[in-house]
Amino acid sequence: AKAPQTAQIQTVLDDAYGKFIQKNPGKNADYIPALAKVDSAYFGLALVTHDGKVYTKGDVDQSFSIQSISKVFTLALAMEEKGSQTILDKVGVNATGLAFNSVTAIEQNPARSVNPLVNAGAMATVSLLDGNDDKTKWSALSGWYNTFANRKLSVLEDVYKSETDTNSHNRAIAELLVSYDRFYGDVDLNLDIYTRQCSVAVTAKDLAVMASVFANNGVHPLTGKRIMSSDNVARVLAVMTTAGLYEDSGQWAYQVGLPAKSGVGGGIIAVSPGQFAVAVFSPRLDAAGNSIRAQQAIDYIAEKLHANIF
Ligand code: GLU
Repeated sequence: AKAPQTAQIQTVLDDAYGKFIQKNPGKNADYIPALAKVDSAYFGLALVTHDGKVYTKGDVDQSFSIQSISKVFTLALAMEEKGSQTILDKVGVNATGLAFNSVTAIEQNPARSVNPLVNAGAMATVSLLDGNDDKTKWSALSGWYNTFANRKLSVLEDVYKSETDTNSHNRAIAELLVSYDRFYGDVDLNLDIYTRQCSVAVTAKDLAVMASVFANNGVHPLTGKRIMSSDNVARVLAVMTTAGLYEDSGQWAYQVGLPAKSGVGGGIIAVSPGQFAVAVFSPRLDAAGNSIRAQQAIDYIAEKLHANIF
């Protein structure tokens, strides 16, 4: 595909904002009480090209919790540390076709294989990371996120506390994995790290910058430094394509055709390899847990910029 031009990209973002700002269907996630309180009017769109040009529209400096979008960056670190074969063997990479927090996904698969972008696989991935104590593990993981964001990110303490106080379901998933020898460390430690990674504060602009590393084959567009191997970028993008929007991933690939990842905080990132990364924030979700306006906006942007990878 021909690379989109500067003026065109800004126009497409402006138009996407104008087209979807009026109607704001769906509802905030509320199983984590702090997320229900987020102002649902926020709408921010950011796009970063493979060569580091940044385009924004709307509420792009508003912080929100990264939630499940964190899973792709944790997966990237685990691949860099342990190799991609380890992820395949110990976590799995097939789509579950089920909800993000499904227990059935583990139970119905004889190999107990899931993928790193659903809660079970994401927690197992955290358990694989180097480091045996909280401090070592968290400083490596948060440092890794900071490298992608090209700045120091913080944790939204209210979200972290809120999810920690209501974490029984994720704890049950982790314990179930332990029972099948598919969890690779202490449950308390790794559940806590996972919960903290989901509570990292990002803006739509941060997310577009972070995802732009995947759009540029593992080299950071803003610093020119290689962050991860291009082999691992390809594998992260593959899992995003098959499982990034939970049980709606097939529909998303069919409709939009970009590797993407959503989070229940209302963010979605999508990557056009070799071209750009886009991130949209809008808190209201559909039944699968994907932001409705973020999906609409990215669908529109991908179509206008002829970005469908298929
Ligand atoms: N922290 C959330 C959870 O574990 C992440 C889910 C999501 O964003 O889909 O339930």
